[in-house]
This record gives sequence, structure tokens and C-alpha cells, in this order.
Amino acid sequence: MTVQREQLEADVLIVGAGPAGLACALHLANLIKKHNAAGGKPELSAENIYVLEKGREIGAHQLSGAIMNPKALAELVPDFEKTAPLDTPVTDSAALLFTRNSSMRLPITPPPFQNRGNYVVSLSKLVKWLGGLVEAAGVNVFKEFGGRELVYERDGIGGVITEDKGVDKNGKPKDNYTPGYELKAKVTVLAEGTRGSLTKQLVAAKKLDNINPQSYGIGIKELWDVQPGRIAPGYVAHTLGWPVSTDMYGGGWIYGLSNNRVSIGMVLALEYADPQFDPHAAFQTWKTHPFLKKLLDGGKLVRYGAKSLPYGGWYAIPRTYVDGGLIIGDSGSFLDSQRLKGIHLAIKSGMLAAETVFEALKAGDTSAKTLSTFPSKVEQSYIKKELWQVRNFHQSFQHGMLAGFVHTAFQQITGGRGLIDPMRAEAGYKHYKPIHGRPAPERFKGDGKLTFDRLTDVYHSGTRHNDDQPSHLIVRDLNVCATQCAEEYGNPCQYFCPAAVYEPVQEKDGFKLRINFANCVHCKTCDIADPYQIIDWVVPEGGGGPNYEGM
Ligand SMILES: Cc1cc2nc3c(=O)[nH]c(=O)nc-3n(C[C@H](O)[C@H](O)[C@H](O)COP(=O)(O)OP(=O)(O)OC[C@H]3O[C@@H](n4cnc5c(N)ncnc54)[C@H](O)[C@@H]3O)c2cc1C
Repeated sequence: MTVQREQLEADVLIVGAGPAGLACALHLANLIKKHNAAGGKPELSAENIYVLEKGREIGAHQLSGAIMNPKALAELVPDFEKTAPLDTPVTDSAALLFTRNSSMRLPITPPPFQNRGNYVVSLSKLVKWLGGLVEAAGVNVFKEFGGRELVYERDGIGGVITEDKGVDKNGKPKDNYTPGYELKAKVTVLAEGTRGSLTKQLVAAKKLDNINPQSYGIGIKELWDVQPGRIAPGYVAHTLGWPVSTDMYGGGWIYGLSNNRVSIGMVLALEYADPQFDPHAAFQTWKTHPFLKKLLDGGKLVRYGAKSLPYGGWYAIPRTYVDGGLIIGDSGSFLDSQRLKGIHLAIKSGMLAAETVFEALKAGDTSAKTLSTFPSKVEQSYIKKELWQVRNFHQSFQHGMLAGFVHTAFQQITGGRGLIDPMRAEAGYKHYKPIHGRPAPERFKGDGKLTFDRLTDVYHSGTRHNDDQPSHLIVRDLNVCATQCAEEYGNPCQYFCPAAVYEPVQEKDGFKLRINFANCVHCKTCDIADPYQIIDWVVPEGGGGPNYEGM
């Protein structure tokens, strides 16, 4: 069927309303305002900037720790402290070493865990506030619209096609069928966050990968209201050790917010050997440590969520420019995995992209050559300075925590160079070892008070998708799941998915992989961690997904 799509044309199309995309939009609108006020030619308009966001609200898909380094926000909105929803300044930064039953605070908090001068924030609230400023600046923000496909033009991109709405689960149009729009733009900025679905297409199509493939972690988070006096606002702790085994990379966080609210979570690198490892169960087990039990006792779970994050750093930054296109924020690997900080780098990369686009619009030239000033700007900014110091950090841990600590000690005294520079990495899914007939482990059930099973947690993520639509989780060859994957790895999708989406079942006519896509919290773990790389996460009908209010 040929679909007649309505076409809209913008100067700039930004895909994703996270910190990166919104910073890009706001900074560009501000530059345009000044340019026009000074009588600059050609006259430009903020109304010709479009931002697309798949979430039902701005901020609905934002999940972060989050401790924010405020320096980029201070450049973007100089008086941000007056109106931004900053929860609380950090008052104490601790590093805790856990064994099964004890915890020890390290006498000196290592520099990567020091957070004085930073704020504990809800990224979802912060992004919602930023979205308001962007709209007030005249930019067109389209919520509940996902970029589904790229429009390729020249040797790059010329826009995106948004998802079709009103298609039933068999792919047939319903009464409310509306074909996706073809949104054309002089420059399209991909700000989709971690494992962007369009970014993935573009990086593959134009071979933009750097020397290392991107590596990822998964972060699993719960927000709790606890009994008064259990945690001071601004107390932040990172935990090392139990229950994360020494052959894995990961740890926990505990961040005190105001009003007896606490953000707890765990990040784990998606490059472990055991395909039956269950990150959600590891997080729940961590909560049974006496330190957390005491903190959470008598408290209440408020929200749950999970999201992947790019760990690869400097040597995994793809080429960030093509004809008519830029890649920013987490999609561009601008995250410091040593400090677990990406918010300020996402904002800064958005601002540098805005300056690049502004110059290109004035020159009337949006070719790759003109847009290639973006990586030069990144090189000259603190993004490079920060990421260069840790350019070999995450790769050092690919063979476990102990090897990692040795490497990072050398990196610390050599400005990031260490023993091997550049240190190569391989994609995380290549680390799985076959199960050799090992039976499936028992699933984590939880006690319903302190610990929860995945479905209870998904309920607390506020996730909603219309059931009557095609699955947005596309498994390209189900035979592989039934045969090769079942035998070699025992279908790891049923373990790594923190939202109980994948369910292998034996039916009368054989193996079936049930895909409960309505549970999907958009973490992208399946797209990343599938051993055969046959799962494609694509945007569902706009508005579907989690509701990370307050996260
Ligand atoms: C568990 C966890 C803890 C973290 N803790 C911290 C911390 O404490 N401090 C810190 O500084 N950083 C932290 N980070 C990292 C930080 O959250 C990210 O670096 C930052 O959010 C990146 O911003 P972004 O705009 O690039 O992407 P995102 O914040 O992910 O925003 C991308 C947006 O694009 C939308 N989108 C994606 N694809 C499409 C599409 N095709 N069409 C339309 N919309 C789309 C998404 O819905 C989303 O709203 C953490 C991350 C995680 C996962």
C-alpha cells in the first residue's frame, strides 16, 4: 500500500526532548532572537525549530539518578537557580563498601564519587521545566510523536517520518488511522538518548562507528518515600561490592531528596558472561542489605523504572555529523561513565550543536563539511576534557572489577592513558558463555514490601501502551529464539528485560516467544543485549511507554 503522507518543512528538526534536545532548541532559539534583534540576515525564526518527543508528556521518559553538575545549565539559563526544580544541593558524598551483612564507608571518598557543588534532581521534573522554556521561546514541540524512519538525502539525512497512528495489532488501519508525517528539515538533530533507534539506523547506514562499538549498562531505579529522619536531603552514597560479583561491573546508589524521598538504584554493565543473570533480581537482592533494609523499613515504593546508558565514552563516539544531520547527548556517547554523569554533557553538546546549526543556517549551507565544526567545538570544550581523562576507563572493567581497578590506578596518574591507549572493547553481548544445559533458575518473587517481582515494579512505572497495535519490539527471526538461542543461552531476553516483556513458552505446537510489549519501559536493553542482535526496538504509537513522573 502506498501511503500518502503529509509533509511539513522546518529549518531544524530535533528528535528527542531530553536535556540534549531541549538545550539545543533553547540555545538556538536564543541565538536566533539576538540575531534578528541585531537586524541579522537572513532573518530566522524559532517557529521553524521542531522538537519531537515520543513520551506522552515532556519528561515522561526521563529516568536518571540524578546528581547534576550544574555548569552547563548555568550557561544555558544563567539564572536557573531562581526557577529550576532543583531538589537539593549535595551535602555529603559517601562511598560504601558492601559485604553481605556489613557496610564500610571508605575513609576518603574517591574523587569520582565526590559531588559537592552538584544538585540531586529529578531529571523528569527538570526536563519538564526546560520544555516549558523551549515552548515559551516559540519552538514547536510535538509530544506523542516518535521518529520512526529517517529520510535519507544527499549523503546524510533530510528529516524523519513519524510513526503511523491507529494501526491494529495485525498491521491493519483502524478507524482512527493517521499516516505518519514526513518532516523535512535543513538539519535534523538526533537527540534520542541511549541506543537511539534512528541513530542506530544512521550509524549503520553511514558506517559512523568509532574504533570501539558502544558499550552499555542498565540502570534500575526505585523512588521511595521513607520514614522521617532516615536520610538527610543531599546525602549521596555509591555502593561497591555485594551483591555484584567481582567478574561484573556495577554498583548501587542512594540519593537523599527533600521530603523524605530517596532515589535508589543499581547500574550494571551489559557485558556479563552468565546469560541467565537477572539484573532486576540483583537490584532487588541489593535492597535486602541491612543498610538498605533499615533505610526503607516502613517506607513506600513510589515509582520504578529502568533505562540503559552508554558507557563507551570517547572512543565510542560515532561520527556526529553527516549532510543535514548531527548526533548529540547520549546518542552521541557524551557520558562520563566513571562519574555516572551525562546530564551536563548532554546539555553542553546540545548547545554546541545549536551554535553549529545557527552558523549553517546563516550560511545557507547544511552540508557535512559545514556541520563538521560540531566535533571541533566538542574538542575545544570541557566535554573533551572530561571524557579524555576517562577514555579508557570503562574498557578496563570488561574483564572484571579487579583488573579494572589496576588499570584505572595507572590511568589516574597518566591523565587517562593508562597501560594501553586506546584500549579496545568488544560489544557486551559477545561476553555470554553457553549454558550447557543448565536448568532455568527460579525467578525472583519478592516479599511485596521491600522487594518486588518485575510485574509489580512495572505497575509502578506508570507504563501504558495501546494493546491493539503492532509490537514495537521486532524479533527478526523467531526460529533463532526457538532453536539456537534456547539451546546455547537459554533465551537471555527473559532474564535481562527488567519489565517481563519476553516470555518463552512451550505450547502444543512447540516453542513460542510471547512478547508482552505493553510492559515495555523503553530501556532498550533487548536491542542491546540480545546475543544474536535480532531484536529491533522501534518507536511504538506516540504517547506509549512509561510515566516517570518525579524520577
Ligand atoms: C540509571 C541512570 C542513572 C543516571 N544517573 C545520572 C546522574 O546521576 N547524573 C548525570 O549527570 N547523569 C546520569 N545519567 C545519565 C543521564 O541521565 C543522561 O546522560 C542524559 O539523560 C542524556 O540526555 P539525552 O537528552 O541525551 O537523552 P535522554 O535523557 O534519554 O532523552 C532522550 C529523549 O528522546 C526521546 N526519544 C528517543 N527516541 C525518540 C524518537 N525516535 N522519537 C521521538 N522521541 C524520542 C526519549 O523519549 C527521551 O525523552 C544516568 C542515566 C541512567 C540511565
